[in-house]
Amino acid sequence: MLVVMSKTASQQSIDTVIKAIKDAGLIPHCIPGTIRTAIGVTGNTGAIDTEQFSTLPDVIQVIRVTAPYKLVSREIKPENTLVTVCGVVFGNKQIQIIAGPCAVESREQMNILSQKLQDAGVKMLRGGVFKPRTSPYSFQGLAEKGLEILAEVREKTGIPFVTEAVDTETLPLIEQYADMLQIGARNMQNYSLLRAVGKSKKPILLKRGISATLEEFFMAAEYIMAEGNYNIVLCERGIRTFTQHNRFTLDIGIIPTVKQLSHLPIIVDPSHSAGIRDKVIALSLGAVSAGADGLIVEVHPYPEKALSDGAQSLYPQQLEQLMKKLAIIAPALDRCM
Ligand code: PEP
Ligand code: MN
Repeated sequence: MLVVMSKTASQQSIDTVIKAIKDAGLIPHCIPGTIRTAIGVTGNTGAIDTEQFSTLPDVIQVIRVTAPYKLVSREIKPENTLVTVCGVVFGNKQIQIIAGPCAVESREQMNILSQKLQDAGVKMLRGGVFKPRTSPYSFQGLAEKGLEILAEVREKTGIPFVTEAVDTETLPLIEQYADMLQIGARNMQNYSLLRAVGKSKKPILLKRGISATLEEFFMAAEYIMAEGNYNIVLCERGIRTFTQHNRFTLDIGIIPTVKQLSHLPIIVDPSHSAGIRDKVIALSLGAVSAGADGLIVEVHPYPEKALSDGAQSLYPQQLEQLMKKLAIIAPALDRCM
């Protein structure tokens, strides 16, 4: 349910509505907007009697949200949400590129790479330190040592970073270091982890599950928002289908659908869907053309030596080429780099 208040509603009226929601045993979510003041209401298991709110001062309308996802829905917030990570804004005209290795492997790797990425115009780094690997015998990540390396690189370059939180046990450690927390495809429906990052103050990069429907994807975001963290960037990274020619099938069609149904920004991971580096640029250009707010791309200074996902990791020069191509198409899409 959504309580819509007049644009000029006083703080006192807003506080009255918030109190009435809490007194009814429900949870208020203030939704800032330039065209109206709105308060989302969650926490109900059945229908709510709307009259107790519609008669309060400065309330214009009480709307039942028809979609199963509430706070994620455009019904509740018509304007795009802008998610800011240390000055990097997702959801406005700028196409944001997050780049870096699948996994942080060494200080040397990150020093060489971060310099090249910064030169290419990248504004945010990625790098896993806890890796969810299919095989328990594969490289699992450098854990806290990797976080220290990422923090050193941030200190040197001024570039913020995103890294994956794989469980609730290691989340507090990651939260101490990271600027943005990634929830990986395999954890999209790990509800205790979603609730835990929902209580975090850090912005979230939520990847679509390997076989998640749009509704399941939105519901995962809803778990996070229901706990009070509204700073979510969605990420399409390919889904499992019958096709064999790519690692995962990139669902470009989800981008305009997300834009229509939700106010949250969405970026695309072309690397995990392609599985091999020679397809990454084509998928990136397609995703941005379809309206993606940015990309998260795997890049390695020496992909053939990478400890994970080397085959799909771009060489730094390829990332530079991608950035140049994006700069050319951006104006045609009414966007900028
Ligand atoms: C990753 O970003 O390195 C990763 C493991 O991605 P996904 O969760 O999409 O597989
Ligand atoms: Mn990877």
